[in-house]
Amino acid sequence: MTQPGLYPVPAAAEARCLIDNEAYQRMYQQSVQDPQSFWAEHGKRIDWFTPYTKVKNTSYQPGNINIKWFEDGVLNASYNCLDRHLPHKANDIAYYWEGDEPGVQKNVTYQELYEQVCQLANGMKSLGVGKGDRVTIYMPMIPEAVISILACARIGAVHSVVFAGFSPDALGSRVQDCDSKLIITADQAPRGSRLTALKDNTDLALGHLGKNSPVQHVIVVKHVGENVDEHPGRDVWYHELLAKQPKTCEPEPMSAEDPLFILYTSGSTGKPKGVLHTTGGYMVWASMTHQYVFDYHPGDIYWCAADVGWVTGHTYIVYGPLANGACSVLFEGVPTYPSVKRMAQIVDKYQVNILYTAPTAIRALMAHGDTPVEGSSLSSLRTLGSVGEPINPEAWSWYHEKFGHGNCPIVDTWWQTETGGILITPLPGATDLKPGSATRPFFGVKPAIVDNEGTLQEGAAEGNLVILDSWPGQMRTVFGDHERFEQTYFSTYKGTYFTGDGARRDEDGYYWLTGRVDDVLNISGHRLGTAEIESCLVAHDAIAEAAVVGYPHDIKGQGIYVYVTPRVGVEPSDELTKAVRAWVRQEISPIASPDIIQWAPQGLPKTRSGKIMRRILRKIAANEHDQLGDISTLADPSVVDQLIEKRLNR
Ligand code: ATP
Ligand code: MG
Repeated sequence: MTQPGLYPVPAAAEARCLIDNEAYQRMYQQSVQDPQSFWAEHGKRIDWFTPYTKVKNTSYQPGNINIKWFEDGVLNASYNCLDRHLPHKANDIAYYWEGDEPGVQKNVTYQELYEQVCQLANGMKSLGVGKGDRVTIYMPMIPEAVISILACARIGAVHSVVFAGFSPDALGSRVQDCDSKLIITADQAPRGSRLTALKDNTDLALGHLGKNSPVQHVIVVKHVGENVDEHPGRDVWYHELLAKQPKTCEPEPMSAEDPLFILYTSGSTGKPKGVLHTTGGYMVWASMTHQYVFDYHPGDIYWCAADVGWVTGHTYIVYGPLANGACSVLFEGVPTYPSVKRMAQIVDKYQVNILYTAPTAIRALMAHGDTPVEGSSLSSLRTLGSVGEPINPEAWSWYHEKFGHGNCPIVDTWWQTETGGILITPLPGATDLKPGSATRPFFGVKPAIVDNEGTLQEGAAEGNLVILDSWPGQMRTVFGDHERFEQTYFSTYKGTYFTGDGARRDEDGYYWLTGRVDDVLNISGHRLGTAEIESCLVAHDAIAEAAVVGYPHDIKGQGIYVYVTPRVGVEPSDELTKAVRAWVRQEISPIASPDIIQWAPQGLPKTRSGKIMRRILRKIAANEHDQLGDISTLADPSVVDQLIEKRLNR
């Protein structure tokens, strides 16, 4: 008999998928018992100019933190994404590009991608950019964004992609932090019909940096076609630069441990960190996780609906899929423009088989009931994915039913910018699913739970999530601040990598992410993760989205402060507030009963990658809104002002 809340692997998925449960168990055991031979074998999925003879050379020991993979191998990431596919796939489509406006579209083949990458790489060289130089990419979701990334990789320049929604100041501080010689941008970026003036923002950012600006050149893609200011000697049009360049460019031989990119984290918990990834281990990890987690087969149409400005875009729009020669959808817009049906319409239009998106998008659609899927068949879908936050079981079920017609496995993938790729996840043909659980570790990953003293917990347990040993895709340093790297990740629980997340492991060995450790509530001595209470709230009919934080409480130490966004068409009232409180008492326990419920019809403060920023909500709840900290990654600051005003009027 099946357990309630357990979704066994559908027979069709088991038959089709690369890895069934038996294969998972066997490979997982091998990967953790003998990582040297496991990775010696799987590292071969990447083409090496000079094959590695060394595989794993890593240590988490205090005073001797060392992370090196395949260290004597030589390769080039762009070669792996392009050149090696040309003999058999030159005319295959690498990207179906779907513009912000429906009907605006373009297909890019592997041959076209290769030629433009080579031309831009040559153009960058002509501007004096070479191996080891940093390049900031500030671009809309257009093929040129991918081309820019790969052109950097081709010549060994280290890219730092800054999300196009960021302000001039956020751009400027990231340019300065990594000392970028070059910026690649576009005139403007359309998103949900709104335009962001990328070139103007770039000019402002560089204006603010003034004499301290490290930037020598700005390459500008003419995308929207608006007039922009030109700074002669500094600015170069992308199309003019490329027109003069040959369509081949020798890929720079890179050592496995040479840097590939820097990416600043979302900033959910504090000042963004310049996470640095290197070449060899990252490429192995990106391509292997992309293939197995999504069960990617040649011929599949794959759509990762993230932005290239986030790590999800780096690993699962660019490097993973291209290393595997995949065909992807690249979408410029947002899931709700011009209507909430857009996402389902794109799935039908390109006959997408694999869809990877975030809980924030799913909740935004779910608030509209069935409307988002009306008129779409979605019959091409086979595997669904989720990333970025814990997915509330309610949102999981909606996604499963409405998009997945009840039979597509959902891979709830837990990972971080720092991890380079997915670490804890179901495999669609191997793992029985439990909504809300990221389930089991990927090959080579050794998660563990420790209590606050750092003692390892056995069996079913709850506490701090750590990883006991290195995996190839792990970050190597915080750019320019190795001290911060060791301090942040290796000093809390000695001998382990500390994730900063809390987790529970159940009796089946499944992992449930309970929220950020910094956000854990301590109510009269009971520790409560934010995820469980939030999921309970989202399961209420009236609620679209919820965030839970603690605030100082005379008696309980901490009280529970809840912010809730109503579903479309719901009017908050005192009765509804009471009903919501009763619901939480009944569904979880009186301990979890909210002390204060604040309705937030205008939405919750989120990072630009859509994650709820609880640290800001905590400050508002505590009436400390003069101490909000770094808010440079906040998507919509006006939301914060409205929440503060309502808090003050209570
Ligand atoms: P910062 O580190 O700057 O505070 P951030 O942690 O939001 O920002 P990311 O690297 O983008 O930056 O996000 C990683 C985090 O997102 C994880 O540590 C975890 O808290 C959360 N997360 C990602 N995927 C999942 C998932 N499937 N389930 C639960 N949480 C997830
Ligand atoms: Mg983080």
